[in-house]
Order: sequence, then structure tokens, then C-alpha cells
Amino acid sequence: AKGGGRGRYAIFGQAMDALVQERRAVEHDLRIALEGNDQIVVLFQPLYSAGTRRITGVEALARWHHPTKGWITPDAFIPVAEDTGLVEQLGDRVLRAACQAARGWGAIKLAVNVSVVELRNPLYPMKVANILMATGLNPHQLELEVTESTLTDENGICAANIEALRELGVLIALDDFGTGFSSLSRLQSLAVDRIKVDKSFVQGLGTPGSSDAAIVEAIIKLAQATGLKTTAEGVETIEQEEHLQRAGCDDLQGFLMSKPVSEVELSKLLQSQDEQ
Ligand code: C2E
Ligand code: CA
Ligand code: CA
Ligand code: CA
Repeated sequence: AKGGGRGRYAIFGQAMDALVQERRAVEHDLRIALEGNDQIVVLFQPLYSAGTRRITGVEALARWHHPTKGWITPDAFIPVAEDTGLVEQLGDRVLRAACQAARGWGAIKLAVNVSVVELRNPLYPMKVANILMATGLNPHQLELEVTESTLTDENGICAANIEALRELGVLIALDDFGTGFSSLSRLQSLAVDRIKVDKSFVQGLGTPGSSDAAIVEAIIKLAQATGLKTTAEGVETIEQEEHLQRAGCDDLQGFLMSKPVSEVELSKLLQSQDEQ
């Protein structure tokens, strides 16, 4: 039995080694990607007013075009970027590119994801201010999406940074709401402007026996009571859209309306909307 155990550990050890090596490879390649300027690409997914189905904003989403592995989704490289600190460079790159693109889109809002690792840097608000200045984007058009883990960060730097960003005029959205640990009752004390209902709850809308409808309605009611805007992400069916409209959700985002698209494609979408 002992030998078998050792054998299992040997296999486990090999699997761990492979994982560590894979992460090292991603880190190595990501460093190279961030030195150049053609591998990291930013796509934009439109956000629609639930009432009018007009585009009110876009969310910038990072993509990595790896020279041999092809397209890599953020879930596969953001965690490595966070562990290695490379997410600061990546975030800088995405924010700059997105602000530059958004200048040509009129008054619509630009949402950009921020990692808790970036937000823990006391210099982060200054970085954002510099990028706004360099690109000329109005701070009120920028909405930074932070996750709940940011708000429970012990040392207080994240909270201070969020305050500093809001003083710049930048808006703050709480991403993936409902999946973290901050309770609904804490909403009132949070210095945010919007909450994004996580797609895992949206997906259950219209599924018989699911409690997701009750959860989504409760989140939206509470947000309204505390003066926060709401966006539902991951809207894939008309049934979900209608549910969210009835519940009073402000904005909708999902494959039903549009998947993330290139800057050029987004410009076309905005243009055809203006012609209507
Ligand atoms: P997120 O911020 O929750 O972004 C929404 C994700 O849902 C995106 O995945 C989007 O493509 C996807 N999505 C949109 N509509 C639908 C839908 O109708 N159904 C389904 N099933 N999915 C939908 P994506 O682009 O793969 O990004 C994954 C996560 O990676 C993001 O989740 C965000 O947390 C992170 N991420 C992406 N770009 C950046 C970035 O520039 N910086 C940082 N720190 N994180 C990023
Ligand atoms: Ca987001
Ligand atoms: Ca989200
Ligand atoms: Ca997410």
C-alpha cells in the first residue's frame, strides 16, 4: 500500500511539475507579448439600455493572440498575469488602448476591468489620471469594474484608491456581483456607482425551479433603493431579457445583443444606430 501511495504521489508530483512549467511558459510568453504591440488585442462588447436596446456603453475585454497557440482567453492568462505582477502592464495597455478608441465614439460609456493587484498599488489613480490626460477621454465616460474582493482588501489601499478615482470623476462598477462575500446589506456603505449582476444568476432566469429570478430581483431592488445603477451580464435569451426588463434592470450585456467585437465593428454598430 505504501508503494502504491508513493506511486500516486509521484504521478501527482509530475502533474504539479507540468502545471508549474505551463505557468512558467505562459509567463515567459506574456512578457514577450507585452514587449511587442500586436499580440494583446482589445475587443469591445456593447452594453444596451434595457428599455430602448440602444448602446449606452461598451466593456473592453482583453484577448491574446499567441504566435503559436492562437487566441487565448483572459481566464487562461489573467491569473498568471496577476501572480507575476504583469497584470499592471497589461491593465495599462488595455486602458490606454480602450480610452484611445472610445474618444471617437461620442458620449457612450467605456467600462474597463481592473485587477485587485492593480488597485493595490497606491500609484494606480495617478496612472489612470495620466492615461485620461494623454488620451483626452472625459473621466465621466470611464467606468472601472472592480470585484468584491477589492472591497474587503484589509490594508485600505483599494478603498482609498477607489475614493481617489471617484474624485477624478471616474465611475466604479462592482463586477460579478453576488459571487463574492460582501453581503447585500453592505451595499449602502460601498462607494460604487453600479453593480453588475453576475451571469451565473442571469443564466437561471426562466429555468423552472431555479431561485435565480428571486436573487436577481432582490439585487436590483436593493440597488435601486441605494441609488445604484444595474447591469446584467450574460444575457443570452429573449426570455432573460424580458425578465430583466420587468425587474427594472438598467443595462443589458450578452450574446443575445452582441458578442465582443473589434473596434472597427463597434464603430459600425454605433454608426448604424445613429442612422436610425
Ligand atoms: P467579466 O468582467 O465578467 O467579463 C464578462 C465575460 O462574459 C467576458 O468573458 C464576455 O465575453 C463574457 N460574456 C459576455 N456576454 C456573454 C453571454 O451572453 N454569455 C456568456 N456565457 N458569456 C458572456 P471574457 O472576455 O472571456 O473575459 C473573462 C474575464 O476575464 C472577464 O470577466 C474579466 O474578469 C477578465 N478580463 C477580461 N479582460 C480583462 C482586462 O483587461 N483586465 C482584467 N484585469 N481582467 C480582464
Ligand atoms: Ca467585467
Ligand atoms: Ca462580470
Ligand atoms: Ca466574470
